[in-house]
Amino acid sequence: MDKTTAKKIKVAELFYSLQGEGQYLGTPSIFLRVFGCNFKCAGFSMPRGHLSDERLSVDPSKYTDYNSLPLVHTGCDSYASWDPRFKHLSPMMEIKDIVDKMEELLPNGMFGNDAHLIITGGEPLLGWQKMYAYLLAEIGERDMGLNNITFETNGTQDLNQDFLDFLKANPFFPNLNITFSVSSKLPSSGEKFEEARSAFHPSCLLQVKSLKRLFVLRLFVSIMISVTLLILSGLCRTKMIMKMCYVQLMYTQKVLVRVRWLTFQST
Ligand code: SF4
Repeated sequence: MDKTTAKKIKVAELFYSLQGEGQYLGTPSIFLRVFGCNFKCAGFSMPRGHLSDERLSVDPSKYTDYNSLPLVHTGCDSYASWDPRFKHLSPMMEIKDIVDKMEELLPNGMFGNDAHLIITGGEPLLGWQKMYAYLLAEIGERDMGLNNITFETNGTQDLNQDFLDFLKANPFFPNLNITFSVSSKLPSSGEKFEEARSAFHPSCLLQVKSLKRLFVLRLFVSIMISVTLLILSGLCRTKMIMKMCYVQLMYTQKVLVRVRWLTFQST
């Protein structure tokens, strides 16, 4: 590794808490929230087609501490981890100081099997990705027993080759379990599909397309059954057939809604 590179990361937050979501829910973890994101997700909690500007009502000059910032009810709730107006609240930290702080926060200064490391953001796989090999090397050299690391990502970024090579060589952690917790951005985020779709591996896109075909097929079959039942109910006028007809129509409606959702996803 090049020792002359400035080994710093712009850190929005660094704290010890319980994981609040996903498969490691409830696990004690060090959270490293890095600054910067390629999205704004201004559509969260907004009526369809509308974008939130609530974060703009927060005056950055009134705050000197990230934790004292007000919560917003619409748009991205981590706005201060990427909005340049709040960048003064996220200091550039040397890798060594970040790991010192981790040691201070962890019980006995060790991750061990009990505590995980979570790297989140913002989007943690943007430019800071090139620093993670240094970060992990520093943790490894201090023998802090790191066994689990999770990247909470929007899934739009590739892993860079240097980081991949480091992970493959894995000189420090023989038992390291790496999780990429991908939160792909749906239309409710307000982000455009063309920008968010690189979150999908080609095989996922294929899956979306085949799911769409499957639903269209189900819709066709449902409509055919509904029409048949309607004709039968006209002929026989029995309550049972009327009931079946109603249930079938409800099912068709459900399939229609899902087809609409999938169509919206891929346009
Ligand atoms: S990807 Fe995540 S951090 Fe970035 S704007 Fe969207 S919700 Fe916020």
